[in-house]
Amino acid sequence: MIFLDAAATTPVRREVLEAMWPYLTGEFGNPSSHHGLGEAAAMALAGARNATAKALGCRAGEVVFTSGGTEADNLAVKGIALARRAVDRHLDRVAISAVEHPAVEESARYLERVHGFAVDVIPVDRYGQVTEEALAEVLGPRTALVSIMYANNEVGTVQPVARLAAQARALGIPFHTDAVQAAGWLPLDTCTLGVDALSISGHKLGAPKGSGALFVRGRTRIEPLVHGGGQERGRRSGTENVAGAVALATALTLARAGDTSAPVGSAGESAGRVAALRDGFIAEVLAGVAGAVLTGHPTERLPSVASFCFPGTSGESVLLELERQGVVCSSGSACAAGSDAPSPVLLAMGIEPEVAQTAVRFSFDSTITAEQLQEAAAAVRTAVASVRALATS
Ligand code: PLP
Repeated sequence: MIFLDAAATTPVRREVLEAMWPYLTGEFGNPSSHHGLGEAAAMALAGARNATAKALGCRAGEVVFTSGGTEADNLAVKGIALARRAVDRHLDRVAISAVEHPAVEESARYLERVHGFAVDVIPVDRYGQVTEEALAEVLGPRTALVSIMYANNEVGTVQPVARLAAQARALGIPFHTDAVQAAGWLPLDTCTLGVDALSISGHKLGAPKGSGALFVRGRTRIEPLVHGGGQERGRRSGTENVAGAVALATALTLARAGDTSAPVGSAGESAGRVAALRDGFIAEVLAGVAGAVLTGHPTERLPSVASFCFPGTSGESVLLELERQGVVCSSGSACAAGSDAPSPVLLAMGIEPEVAQTAVRFSFDSTITAEQLQEAAAAVRTAVASVRALATS
């Protein structure tokens, strides 16, 4: 099987499993307990927080461990907007891009439905990017928060986050970015990016599902969503997932290991190698499949994502045909899989609904090889041809 669905999830890396194992077994203490076992767990948690902070270029106290990317996004969007409005009731708008993951979009819609906020949706261009002009249009004195993702999960387009964040912060508006897809591949230094909050998720990086973190800058006020014993400095109550935190920190550290000259949090050498393989795969698919269209930005895209529309097919049928040939990929994001509706992300990029329904996403981890991608490109040619032949027969 050739697994080309790494943007959905990745297997746990052996080094990660080995690092977390002790905290699931012998060193199973609760970090809040006042005895040796508890203290060992607290030390492990502190170590994981320091390592995560190092990868994010921030202070340990600015890292809040969560149950994954969805929770980190919810905490950032709801927590910051609600905390700001509690101080100034005029701050009752949130701005999000038109291509956000549902974890951000639905958090904003919740603020609208339950707390009376207005949601400003920032349009994207045909490549899925937010321009500074588009952002300027929506920012105003009532904007409590801006949330624009670092890299898109369906098409891989990378946003100019540093420029957009600077624009929001110049107006005193906090800026959150969902870096769940970007974390293994792009520079993650929160100072250089200039963001106030940033979400990451372990299972996209070789850590288990259910581990994640939110960076929250210094004095940024944040209303907790989960109340209880006051763990994570009161920002996220609940006994900490020590093994999950250790796993996340290990996976993040490994993602940039091997290239110390790379910017903090960048996968460096491996990102360059995978980007070259991705470009070869894209070229082969475009050359081999008549009418195939690359979706997303031609160059400013994740090294790990190649996404296409294959007019005259249905994405789901191509997917099934590819799986029969041993290639596993996705017809959109995993979250939207199984739904017939065309992807809102592709529609926001101006792609016609009939074409959007033919979307297929291929996504790789750093173990991908040129041979695997050549085999996959050949399978794509055959799969699209047979789905088209069936459609016209
Ligand atoms: N944000 C993006 C961009 C994602 O791709 C995902 C997962 O697919 C999430 C958030 C949610 O992360 P998790 O699965 O850890 O809840």
